[in-house]
Order: sequence, then structure tokens, then C-alpha cells
Amino acid sequence: MTDLHQPAEFRKALRAWLDECDLTPPDDHSLAGHMTQFRRVQRALYDAGWGRYGWPEHAGGLGGPAILRAIVGEEVVGRRLAEPGPYSMLEVLTPTMIDYAPTDLAAEMVPKLLRGEEQWCQGFSEPGSGSDLASITTRASQQGDKWVINGQKVWTSFAQHSQRCILLTRTGDADTPNHQAITAFFVDVDTPGISVRPLRTMHDVDEFCEVYFDNVEVDASRMLGKPGDGWQLAMDLLPYERSTCFWQRIAYLYSRFDALVGEVKGDGQAVDSDLGAVYLALHTLRCRSRATQHRLAEGHRLGPDTSIDKVLLAGAEQLLYDTARDLMPSVIELEDTDWRTEYLYSRAATIYGGTAEVQRNIISRRLLDLGKE
Ligand SMILES: Cc1cc2nc3c(=O)[nH]c(=O)nc-3n(C[C@H](O)[C@H](O)[C@H](O)COP(=O)(O)OP(=O)(O)OC[C@H]3O[C@@H](n4cnc5c(N)ncnc54)[C@H](O)[C@@H]3O)c2cc1C
Repeated sequence: MTDLHQPAEFRKALRAWLDECDLTPPDDHSLAGHMTQFRRVQRALYDAGWGRYGWPEHAGGLGGPAILRAIVGEEVVGRRLAEPGPYSMLEVLTPTMIDYAPTDLAAEMVPKLLRGEEQWCQGFSEPGSGSDLASITTRASQQGDKWVINGQKVWTSFAQHSQRCILLTRTGDADTPNHQAITAFFVDVDTPGISVRPLRTMHDVDEFCEVYFDNVEVDASRMLGKPGDGWQLAMDLLPYERSTCFWQRIAYLYSRFDALVGEVKGDGQAVDSDLGAVYLALHTLRCRSRATQHRLAEGHRLGPDTSIDKVLLAGAEQLLYDTARDLMPSVIELEDTDWRTEYLYSRAATIYGGTAEVQRNIISRRLLDLGKE
């Protein structure tokens, strides 16, 4: 009998199901089209059980190791049934919600996200606070059993498609140290006082938004953790962002590498050492990420070591698209293709989820102990 908590058996059964099930995306490359397809895929996966494995039973899951989720992400995104951006929000936000939300709130909300009924967004960055997240100024003030929020977030991916936001705010007074003055809330995006304004990126997609909070009332029951737990929540989120979430992005990059090899061969060019270098970068990244998944599965607490995964991911992604640009002269500059959009988006890989410079600082100071200067 198949034991679906065993990764190899799980993957085999999932592949057989995906082969049978037609989840081919429609020919709609807009962000709205991607979000609709993502919801469709999530619903099918959830209803068939696949999207519930690797999540705890008390939050609507079917249990089993987190690695099962990585397998679902790899198969779904690697087959291009869903785009990696929307898919990534699942792995970034759900584990944190499960760890920090009151149990009944997580039990109510997580299945809605897993089943594709809702999209959530991450309201961390602000116009003056990105790398230096501890300096956020969006303030939450307690008034009875409500908290009133005022301020602004920016670069909030998919906010215009989201029903909920995991939001970091400043609480405490002027004497409270920064790292104890941050509190997280689970906020309904349609709460009065919230305005969402999409921002157009250079790859011509309204992928992220400015989000304004003007006297927004949030019930105290929507706090994630306790007052002052927000910094720790943000730190706990990063290892998930850089493990199961990266695994599906790596599968996507491999699929684009295969497509690039196909384009190059189709043009009658030789598959040369430039492509070899890309393959090596992708393979190094995948080996590193595999080790990270296994450490997570063994119950290790992931920390600054995941900065290595982030640097490798950004480097491999940009090398892949730089090579595509070199090997397909003028395609990226002049033709309206996915290669152009993806090349432009790959420039963000050294920014999102922690910039390359900051990751290298972390590696040198915290892993190599090289001191502050
Ligand atoms: C595609 C994309 C999606 C995103 N989605 C979200 C989202 O959903 N939610 C969200 O909250 N945020 C999101 N962000 C924002 C992202 O987290 C920030 O852009 C990132 O943390 C960097 O912050 P910043 O843009 O304010 O740049 P800054 O922190 O102002 O950095 C500017 C430059 O200075 C460098 N720098 C800063 N500090 C140091 C230092 N100490 N040492 C050396 N160099 C330094 C940086 O490396 C960078 O080159 C997204 C960003 C992108 C690109």
C-alpha cells in the first residue's frame, strides 16, 4: 500500500495524478490570468489532497514532512502549471501564520489560502525601511480591544489580489528597543481605511503595490503572537522563504534552462560553455537547497546560513537570463516575448527577500565571523 508520507512514493503518485489531470494554463500572460490559474491549480490540489500534505492537521493539512510541500511546488511550477511568484506566497506566509496565529484563527484561515479561495500578501517593507526593517514607522496604537493602524507599506506583492495581509507595525513607546517594538497583525485588506495602489514594474506588470493605512481598526484577536513578537516573526519567516519556497523557483529556473537550450539548438548554435556555466550555477543552487530542505526536515532551526541559498539563487537566476540575452541577440531588447519579461524580472533577484549586499554582510559577519568592517 502506498505511504503518501514517504517522499518518493508521494512524488510518484502526485506525478501520476498530474499526468492524468488537465491543469494546462490558458494562453493569458497577464498577472490577473496568472492569479486565476494559480487559484484553479490550488483548488484542484487541495480537493485531491495533494495541497494538504506537509501541513499540520490542526491547520487543515494532512500532516507529513514539509518536504512533501517542496515536491508539490517542484512538480507544479516545474511543469509551468503555476507561476513561481504567486506560488511563493504560500510558502512564505503560511508557516508563519501557523506558528504565530491563535490556533482557531489559523484553523479557519489557512485552508482558505491552501484551497486557493484567498490570496494573502506580506506587508513588511516601507518607503524608508527595507533592509533596515526594524526601523518601520507604520504605527499600531491600542484602543480598548482594538488596535488602530496608521502608515504606509510599499512593494507589497499581489496586494491588489489579496484578501488578507500579514502586517508588521510599530508598537511600544520611544524607549522600547527597535527589535521589541514590532508587532504583527493579520489584517483583512477590505477593512475601511486601507487603500491599495498598484505599482507598475519595469517588466510591465502591476506586481506590487503601495498600501496606505488611515485609522484602520483591527481586532486584538488578529494579533500574531504577542506585542513585540513581530521582529522574531519576520526572522522566522525567512528560513521558509529560502527553503520550500526556493525549491519551486529552482524547478522553474531549470525549466527555463531547458527552454533556452531548445532555443539555442533550434537556432543551429552549439551548446557551449556559457550554458555549461549556467547549468553548474543551477546545480550548485539545487544541491545547496536540497541540503537546506533536509536540515529543515530533521528539525534544525534555519538561520543566517540561508543567506547562502539567497546569494546562490540570485546569482544563478541572473546568470541564466544574462546568458539568454547573449545567446539570443536582440530578442530581449526588441521582441515582446517571455524572455524579455523574465530577463527584466531577474534583475529583482538581488533585491527581493533580502538584497545581495546585505546577504553578503550576514555571511561575512555571522557565518565567517569577519567583524563589522
Ligand atoms: C520583486 C519584489 C517583490 C517584493 N515583495 C515584497 C513584499 O511582498 N512585501 C514586502 O514587504 N516587501 C517586498 N519587497 C521589498 C523588499 O523586501 C525590499 O526591496 C528589500 O528588503 C530591500 O529594501 P529597499 O528596497 O528599501 O532597499 P534599501 O534597503 O534601501 O537598499 C538600497 C541599497 O542599499 C544597500 N544596502 C542597504 N543596507 C545596506 C547595508 N547595511 N550594507 C550594505 N549595503 C546596504 C542594498 O543592498 C541596496 O543595494 C519586494 C521587492 C521586490 C524587488
